[in-house]
Amino acid sequence: MLYIVATPIGNMGDITLRAIETLKRCDFVIAENPGYSRRLLQYIDGLSVRTASVIASNDSVGMTAKKEVVQFAEHNEQQIVKELARRLSKQDGALITDAGTPGISDPGFRLVRECVKENVQVIPFPGPNAAIAALSASGLPTDKFLFLGFLQKTVSKTVEALQFAANAEATAIFYESPERILKTLSYISNAFPSSQVVIARELTKMHEEFIRGTPTQVSDALKDKPSIKGEFTVMISFK
Ligand code: SAM
Repeated sequence: MLYIVATPIGNMGDITLRAIETLKRCDFVIAENPGYSRRLLQYIDGLSVRTASVIASNDSVGMTAKKEVVQFAEHNEQQIVKELARRLSKQDGALITDAGTPGISDPGFRLVRECVKENVQVIPFPGPNAAIAALSASGLPTDKFLFLGFLQKTVSKTVEALQFAANAEATAIFYESPERILKTLSYISNAFPSSQVVIARELTKMHEEFIRGTPTQVSDALKDKPSIKGEFTVMISFK
């Protein structure tokens, strides 16, 4: 069985009771980033962690004190996805990613797709997600929204994706890096100058912040900062 376990996007207090129970109970953890999973498991229970290959060795079966962690990330997903799905038909694994809900803008969906194909049961354990947390406090319309993941980097692809959301009269949501945010805002300000933009930065962390305004106002507010750092979720309303 494959458990899809959402984990905190910053504040560890956002871990759910079901996530804790599932991470303790499962046979092994499948993680994008073993460093993050180690910190998370230590937070949960002081569990010690060992990394392992995808195949369970005899000594890892029935292990209680240590939780086995298998890495599933961009660099190895293609090599191990089938083998992992086969193992999940016999054992229970919990998929976690760097943070948030596994499968949302990360490689997790490929494992879910393979499990569905192989008739392995997949069970979601809902919890934190940056896009939904950002939207819920944005003040922008939430009745219809379009999640665009990470945008492609060219101006034409950016405008095309956002135009699609505008045509659908949906609030657009996407993830962006601090290095690219000003460039992306300049594209938005040229194509949709009177749109309403909300940036949710560092959600659930010490420096959590919402910046609201036209694309130019939001861009100016960012430029006023000594440096542009942190994790960004961007939302745009075209109404
Ligand atoms: N699966 C995750 C989820 O459910 O939120 C998203 C994974 S995606 C690889 C990571 C991106 O989400 C970051 O680059 C950033 O754009 C956004 N993000 C993650 N944590 C965030 C936070 N605390 N505040 C704002 N945006 C965040």
